[in-house]
Amino acid sequence: MVFEMLAKRDKSHEQVIFCSNSETGLKGIIAIHSTALGPSLGGCRMYPYSTEKHALDDVLRLSEAMSYKAALAGLPLGGGKSVIIADPEKDKTPELLWSFGVHIESLKGRYIVAKDMGIVTEDLQYIGDQSSYVVGRPVQRGGLGDPSRSTAKGVYYGIKSAVKWKLKKDSLKGLRLILQGLGGVGSNLLELLSNEGMEIFVQDIKTSVIDEIKSRFPKVKVISEDEVFTTECDIFSPCSVGAIINETSLKTMSCSIVAGGANNQLSHTSIGKKLLDKHILYIPDFIINSGGLIYVSSYMSPKKSNEWIENKIQGISQTINKVCELSQVENVDTAQMALILAREKIKRSYLS
Ligand code: NAD
Repeated sequence: MVFEMLAKRDKSHEQVIFCSNSETGLKGIIAIHSTALGPSLGGCRMYPYSTEKHALDDVLRLSEAMSYKAALAGLPLGGGKSVIIADPEKDKTPELLWSFGVHIESLKGRYIVAKDMGIVTEDLQYIGDQSSYVVGRPVQRGGLGDPSRSTAKGVYYGIKSAVKWKLKKDSLKGLRLILQGLGGVGSNLLELLSNEGMEIFVQDIKTSVIDEIKSRFPKVKVISEDEVFTTECDIFSPCSVGAIINETSLKTMSCSIVAGGANNQLSHTSIGKKLLDKHILYIPDFIINSGGLIYVSSYMSPKKSNEWIENKIQGISQTINKVCELSQVENVDTAQMALILAREKIKRSYLS
């Protein structure tokens, strides 16, 4: 099954590692897509996948996107990602995380783990007890902490660039935005957008999260999952799960721009062309959400300053403008254009 799945992909992965431990209940997969530009770095996602195939598919797609993210952010990093098949609310134990850390360490730095959905900085401390190839441990423990704020900042700049390009506006004032997912990225993004005079609609599957957001931002309007794709807006900002833009959601979507922090927003790259046909500007996820990767990469020698991080995150806007311009000139959708540019960059490094 694995080799079939790998063969179906445009670019095959360098290495896929299955990790298990019957004592701790660990069932995980580490996927290293490419180390052409440097060691692979990417988050670990803990999620109660319904099947192992679903988990494998997710980790393959996520790790591939990490290669492209690093390449277009101009970072000396490759693409990797890991998943643990477990429910973060029920199954997470120190023992499980320690046993996962042993597998990370065995790769001797070919894969560096960070946080993704279902994993918090404290979990990285446990993984880090067994491995030195961990980035984003709690700040109180001398780590870099949660990169979500930096990711959100990049998305914020990306939204502004998209609005300028598509709607020819310098301000977000009066625009309608739907924000899906109010976790690390979504809540930080909401904070950044909250003073822009926008009309903001939010949705999350967790009522506790919604309650907290409503108390912090009383002006936001809460909508249901179904309403996310039936409510007219200027900007749709997906900041939760992937594959949210698919054949079904496309039918009812009514927005001018898709610009959010979630990874793998399109169920398939062909959806990029369908968005273009509907005159919706799609800002490729692996460009707009690269702020967190930029932040965590700052630990690499020589260690980078806050000014370097800020400039690099602001640089996301230039990459977005370049992709928008080229996609117009070449008459291809932005998702395709971003892939072409990223693959070209990785290919050149293999040749040099
Ligand atoms: P998180 O776990 O902190 O938050 C995710 C939120 O989404 C939670 O509040 C959850 O309840 C909600 N959610 C889950 N399924 C949902 C659904 N079907 N509809 C609506 N809400 C749903 O995760 P995060 O760190 O904020 O990451 C969000 C997305 O951004 C993920 O796709 C992640 O891979 C991507 N991303 C995160 C970072 C980062 O720095 N954290 C960096 C790059 C990309």
